[in-house]
Amino acid sequence: MTHSSDFAPTHDVIIVGLGPTGATLANILGGYGLKVLVLEREAGVYPLPRAVHFDDEAMRVFQSIGLSDEIVDDVRVNVGTKFVDKRQNLLLDWSRPQEIGPLGWYPSYRFHQPDLEARLNNGIAMHDNVVIKRSATVTSIEMDDAAVTVSFTKDGAPFSESAAYVVGSDGARSVVRAAIGGEWEDFGFKERWLVVDVQLTTDRSDLGDYTIQTCDRDRPTTYVRCPRDWRRWEISLLPDETPEDVTQDEFIWRNVRPAITPDEGDIRRKAVYNFESKLAEKWRSGRAFVAGDAAHLMPPFMGQGMCTGIRDAANLGWKLAAVLKWGAPDALLDSYEDERRSHTRTYVETAVRVGHMMNSAQTAESLTHVISPDGSAKMNSINRGLDNAIGEATDDDRGARMPQPCLADGTRLSDAMAGRFAVLGSRQHLANLPTPLSSGDIAICLERENHPEIEALLASKAAALLIVRPDFYCFARVSEESVIDHSMGVQSALTTLAQQVSSGSA
Ligand SMILES: Cc1cc2nc3c(=O)[nH]c(=O)nc-3n(C[C@H](O)[C@H](O)[C@H](O)COP(=O)(O)OP(=O)(O)OC[C@H]3O[C@@H](n4cnc5c(N)ncnc54)[C@H](O)[C@@H]3O)c2cc1C
Repeated sequence: MTHSSDFAPTHDVIIVGLGPTGATLANILGGYGLKVLVLEREAGVYPLPRAVHFDDEAMRVFQSIGLSDEIVDDVRVNVGTKFVDKRQNLLLDWSRPQEIGPLGWYPSYRFHQPDLEARLNNGIAMHDNVVIKRSATVTSIEMDDAAVTVSFTKDGAPFSESAAYVVGSDGARSVVRAAIGGEWEDFGFKERWLVVDVQLTTDRSDLGDYTIQTCDRDRPTTYVRCPRDWRRWEISLLPDETPEDVTQDEFIWRNVRPAITPDEGDIRRKAVYNFESKLAEKWRSGRAFVAGDAAHLMPPFMGQGMCTGIRDAANLGWKLAAVLKWGAPDALLDSYEDERRSHTRTYVETAVRVGHMMNSAQTAESLTHVISPDGSAKMNSINRGLDNAIGEATDDDRGARMPQPCLADGTRLSDAMAGRFAVLGSRQHLANLPTPLSSGDIAICLERENHPEIEALLASKAAALLIVRPDFYCFARVSEESVIDHSMGVQSALTTLAQQVSSGSA
């Protein structure tokens, strides 16, 4: 179908797939008031056991869509993971901090995925501008200069809808990824694992709160302490074991480590998965994007697959709003792949290393070489910014992860931002904001004189100005030393912001 150049698509964005990535993106775009259609193949929520962990960055995104107050009630702060050998000797300790970190949340949470999906869906229901169609299977997409047309079947009948952009958050076998072309870059990890969710019926507090990764060449296994009475076991499978055999209760009870008996819990969900490690070569083509598992796959040993999809949604969400609402040039959307692909590569590669370690590690020494170059037998979490972030090329801080200070009234930065940029600086520097930024739609200004924690943040970075992006990475840092002559550095950073994210040229 070809549209005339004055054709106006029905929707701003069509999201294909309502997993955690699509649901987060729908909440973000809904918050910007964009007209969104979500097409989901399944009639109900995903019934099989999947993610059990998310991090502080994901929680900060949930905060930004107004859902963290509810989500926090469902989760447990994660104490960490112990890697042990098959005799349960400790090989490596990946303890997680038990204090709230710089992003404003605990670094690591355990959750039950159906709880989270219900919260995300409740969030979407608050937005009249977001429509979900279930039992809708997308079959193809076509694009021209005016719009993208998404074809789907619902209850056996064919339909099509148009939008300015389509985002494929449609999982590993993404139709949208196939449509935009480009191959997977394959990192070579391929293993079959059985995943089992058990609900305890007796007190087994002796199982402990740590996740236990049993590194055993013959059969690596994982035990996870989930919220409430939920417990997770993941068991690697041998080549000759069939899904039919391993999903028998007898096989499961025999292989869970640490052990538990059928009298102590009920098997609620079980599934055999192929754990893979892949990165899509193309994340955008014209009006189409991929996000979440449609763009990357990693073994789940670091609990980062879904978190990575949530970071995709946060990155793409504000950029789509900037183009569709603020008048930013379409080229801004090219930065989605530039920023997200290389960032994701680190997580895929590290998850693969952890996977290999679980199969091969015999001693603490071999483990620490794989995972912890300082030989400390301690593992640290990945904490990294974006390598190829937008902004001024000379600004080394662009793309850094930004802390979340409290404001003078006790509210927190991410709440005050409400989807906008935050410009942090002195009253003098913020006095004459260029036109597109001064409206308050694109950015909020917070004066260091009024907010002690912002003053402390600027001082700690020796910054005269910090600009925080809606996804909480740094857009610009102007150093104290560079602000010598008529605030030129500040004006330049603000002009760059206005040019990149709005129709104004400042
Ligand atoms: C055992 C296991 C444990 C894991 N543990 C963790 C963890 O602890 N932490 C973590 O961060 N990650 C974890 N992951 C990874 C995480 O589950 C995934 O990365 C995440 O679910 C991906 O979300 P998504 O929304 O991108 O894709 P999906 O959840 O796969 O959702 C895709 C959606 O698209 C729909 N769809 C597909 N095709 C079409 C179509 N043609 N038309 C319409 N709809 C379509 C599907 O029905 C589905 O609802 C784990 C994965 C596994 C398997």
